[in-house]
Amino acid sequence: MTENAILYDSSKCSACKGCQVQCKQWNNLPSSLGKDTNEFTGSYQSMADLNGDTRLLIGFDEKAADGGIEWAFGRRSCFHCTDPTCVSVCPSGALSKLDDGTVRLDSSKCIGCKYCTAVCPFEVPKYRASSGVSNKCTLCDDRTTAGREPACVQTCPAAALSYGPREDVIAAGKVRVEELKTAGFDKAELYGETEMGGMHVLAVAKFGLEAHGYKRNPKAPTAAMIFDLMRPLTALGVAGIAAVLSVSFLASRGYERPDAAVDATKEEN
Ligand code: SF4
Ligand code: SF4
Ligand code: SF4
Repeated sequence: MTENAILYDSSKCSACKGCQVQCKQWNNLPSSLGKDTNEFTGSYQSMADLNGDTRLLIGFDEKAADGGIEWAFGRRSCFHCTDPTCVSVCPSGALSKLDDGTVRLDSSKCIGCKYCTAVCPFEVPKYRASSGVSNKCTLCDDRTTAGREPACVQTCPAAALSYGPREDVIAAGKVRVEELKTAGFDKAELYGETEMGGMHVLAVAKFGLEAHGYKRNPKAPTAAMIFDLMRPLTALGVAGIAAVLSVSFLASRGYERPDAAVDATKEEN
């Protein structure tokens, strides 16, 4: 089966947040902000991070520049990894990999154990207290299996989001990176071709990965680290956790959890 993917092009994104809103609308998720009650924090990013009601966030990474502020926008959501740690630890089968590369979350099967929220190297799945389950991007598998684009892709007015066969997405991303380099953005690069075994949400990072909040060389946690991350969440003993872990490939990998916050030390080209 053809693997599919989303491409996010930060050089085309206007940060209108239409995709954020459309994700909530299609998935019937409420805003986690209070209407007319939120003080200005100094950033136009909202929310501060993903949460139980928010599967998609456009990050505003800022730096001071002559005449004001320069922004590097970034898409924060599930990357739909080829090697998904979240699927490896899910004891109920709520998380699963589809043949097209989508990492699906079936809320009706989720038991709210929070294991996936603990082990994802990007801290993507978030616990939704109002319904007692985990929440994350599903790549709109309810739409794509019906031949439709993901809701966020369909709504983007700047054509910063596209969806299609992963091979085509990678090729288009590489072409765009070369265009940006030719235009003088010499730190431009593509994120997601090989990370975590290959992602199914890729990004063109106009100013380089760090400037847009993307973690370079992300690693899945080792089995020992998974034990430590899961132990506070379970009444199971070590043997019980071991029974939950359904993969052995994790044992040989290093682990580095990314910072969720903006990296103020990043450089632009
Ligand atoms: S809808 Fe498109 S332009 Fe608007 S924030 Fe999302 S990706 Fe950027
Ligand atoms: S980004 Fe995290 S939640 Fe998404 S597939 Fe990868 S490990 Fe799972
Ligand atoms: S693919 Fe669907 S669930 Fe994922 S961020 Fe886009 S709209 Fe939200």
